[in-house]
Amino acid sequence: MWQVVGHEKAVGLLDRCLKNEKLAHAYLFIGPPHVGKMRLAIDLAKALNCQGEDRPCGHCVQCVRIEELKHADVQVIGLDGRAEIGIDQMREMQHSASLKPFEGKYRVFIVDGAEHLSHEATNCLLKTLEEPPSNVQLILLALNERGLLPTLLSRCQKLELRPLPIATFPKILTERWGIPEEKARALANLSRGCVGWAVSALTDDKLLQERSERLASLLRLTEEELAERFSHAAQLASQFSRDRQSVYEVLSLWIEWWHDLLLTKGGCANFISNVDQEAKLHEESQRYSLKEIKVFVESLQQSMAQLEQNANPRLVLEVLMLSMPRRKGERIL
Ligand SMILES: [Zn+2]
Repeated sequence: MWQVVGHEKAVGLLDRCLKNEKLAHAYLFIGPPHVGKMRLAIDLAKALNCQGEDRPCGHCVQCVRIEELKHADVQVIGLDGRAEIGIDQMREMQHSASLKPFEGKYRVFIVDGAEHLSHEATNCLLKTLEEPPSNVQLILLALNERGLLPTLLSRCQKLELRPLPIATFPKILTERWGIPEEKARALANLSRGCVGWAVSALTDDKLLQERSERLASLLRLTEEELAERFSHAAQLASQFSRDRQSVYEVLSLWIEWWHDLLLTKGGCANFISNVDQEAKLHEESQRYSLKEIKVFVESLQQSMAQLEQNANPRLVLEVLMLSMPRRKGERIL
């Protein structure tokens, strides 16, 4: 059984290709953080190596070892704390791909964060894609296509994974994980339809705490003078060089908050994501004009796109700080 929640279209397609032995050599799973890209990749790795009847069975030795990430033929290649996925990692992959599978039928390589592949690493990966060894499956995971070279995109079959609809998601959380209805509704909203986040938040209090701290820090910034804002921009830029993902998460949270402010200001508070912050959103929305909020949401989206396209992070973040409206309603410049 495929463990991934939702994404029926992608699962249906992979399942059909698997049965007809017509899988593409490389897949690219695109979607926001925690939407289920890695879950689907692990499911596909299991299905390829499964010894059971209904692949992936989830019970055979192959399925169990892959699920525990102990299988010698299934490798996850990611940033591992670096700024980019380097050529050394791709060369190592290339070498492993040239060897016969060790304990299963297929060698599966999952590149987590393909948008972080360096130029040289992409070229090295392209060589593997041009002459793919048999019994090798490549699966690339990325937030979007923007940071990927067209030559790489053209050699992968793309599958887009979208967040689950908020209307059906709470029911899934209740049925599958036994979460009480009210909590399931709140988690579904906070997770923006991304199952992985909701399930992690259930067992890891740090996720919710981290979110509160990030929101508090954002609210403080709206009151700060330019010097403090620039110092925050420098701090985020330095964080970006070590851990891009965490900065993307901070900016996504900011976009979501300001989008919620826009909805509240426009009288559509029923559609906000930060359902536990409704009162605060209402209070804050009084402090800005609709235009100020709208312009800043656009600036945030633009900054995110520029960072993904490898613009200078410090410059992008400083410009963003300049465009953030001040809490009392005046712009900083
Ligand atoms: Zn199995």
